[in-house]
Amino acid sequence: MLQRCVLQRILHRFHSGGPEPPRSLLYGRPAALLCGHRAASPRRSSTGLPHVNEQTLIVVKPDGVQRRLVGQIIQRFEQRGFKLVGLKMLRVSEDLLSQHYCQLTSKPFYPSLLYYMTSAPVVVMVWEGHKVIQTSRTMVGHTNPAEAQAGTVRGDFSMHVSRNVVHASDSLEGAQREIQLWFQGNELLNWDCWDQTITCEE
Ligand code: UDP
Ligand code: MG
Repeated sequence: MLQRCVLQRILHRFHSGGPEPPRSLLYGRPAALLCGHRAASPRRSSTGLPHVNEQTLIVVKPDGVQRRLVGQIIQRFEQRGFKLVGLKMLRVSEDLLSQHYCQLTSKPFYPSLLYYMTSAPVVVMVWEGHKVIQTSRTMVGHTNPAEAQAGTVRGDFSMHVSRNVVHASDSLEGAQREIQLWFQGNELLNWDCWDQTITCEE
């Protein structure tokens, strides 16, 4: 509770034009992160230059885990050329989920979404690469699988909006907020991928 108050004060100062809070303070206390909170400054690569690559949060939802689709979903992101920088399996709490879906809490489907998402484990990942946020939304497909194109994850593996297999962040701000919500700083690895200069000119 004390930590929550301290973090809320820090974030309030940040929003009202104060100095940016240290990243170490933002990590580690997911419950204190607010909806719409701006993420900390970009990480630096081993060369000391700012990271230009985007990161996004991908969640294999309970139906995807139950149907043993985790491997196929990971494979799609790997073969596209993106770099996996964080991965874990967990049973998500209602608290975390309500923050993750903070813009949806008033929707009529929210109670069943909450029930479904907390009903079984999920696999949550952070993927990094050139325009990974936009590209992964395209790879995941339309929210409603009935409208999702074949070739997308939802278009290939699902048929109903309430069981659409996977989550992908939908914007830069959303991705930064969600990554900080689900992962602590030391759970993300900054590693050099050997094929990086072959798959991308940056
Ligand atoms: N959802 C649902 N019923 C709806 C709309 C959405 O159960 O009518 C669920 C679905 O699991 C969806 C999630 O709520 O993936 C989040 O909705 P959003 O509009 O953010 O879609 P997404 O970003 O996942 O494509
Ligand atoms: Mg969404």
